[in-house]
Amino acid sequence: MNIILLGPPGAGKGTQAQRLVRERDMMQLSTGDMLREARTSGTEMGKVVADVMDKGHLVTDEIVIGLIKEKLESGGHPGGFIFDGFPRTLAQADALGQLLQDEGQSLDHVIEMQVDDDALVARITGRSTCANCGEVFHDVTKPVPEDGKCPNCGGTSFKRRADDTEEALKTRLLAYYKQTSPLIGYYYAKGKLSVVDGLASMDDVSAAIAKVLGGA
Ligand code: AMP
Repeated sequence: MNIILLGPPGAGKGTQAQRLVRERDMMQLSTGDMLREARTSGTEMGKVVADVMDKGHLVTDEIVIGLIKEKLESGGHPGGFIFDGFPRTLAQADALGQLLQDEGQSLDHVIEMQVDDDALVARITGRSTCANCGEVFHDVTKPVPEDGKCPNCGGTSFKRRADDTEEALKTRLLAYYKQTSPLIGYYYAKGKLSVVDGLASMDDVSAAIAKVLGGA
């Protein structure tokens, strides 16, 4: 089963994707994570995208489609793929449809995670992740434990994203509404769209997603 988690920055796509990876043996394909990795490892592409990302703009379709193409061509995954943060433009959505078709695969569900804009700002500006396993924390709703250890992997180093500032978030939200939100209509018309309330508790969001996917 291949699915897309669609929603603005801070909607909880990454958190829910991690749960699906653990519970359903799916593979998370996050173009944001791939781009951050390219930056850390200092590749040419990483250098090109760094400034664009920090300002909150989208990187080119060509680059992200190339990243996803490479992953899909390296073979399927038994539990299927979760596309997280991809596609973000209509051109990317068309390209994904073609790539899946070329690999003899299909897209099963697109899950839109709806969240109100004020909640996004609060969520994003308090966000941090475990530097080792990527577990997501929040200063208010899910603080790093007092012993300073990640409950998932025991890691002791935590980091904040350079684009999780109010200024960059404004640009990211605008990019979402201008370039990504048309995908809601696109997938609705294809009969693939389901909507969940992204403001519900993490467990309730997981339950709503499980209902869409079928099974527990
Ligand atoms: P994310 O981790 O999904 O919030 O992505 C972080 C940043 O990476 C975005 O603000 C963009 O600059 C870039 N990015 C990630 N995915 C895409 C995509 N599908 N298309 C264009 N830019 C992307």
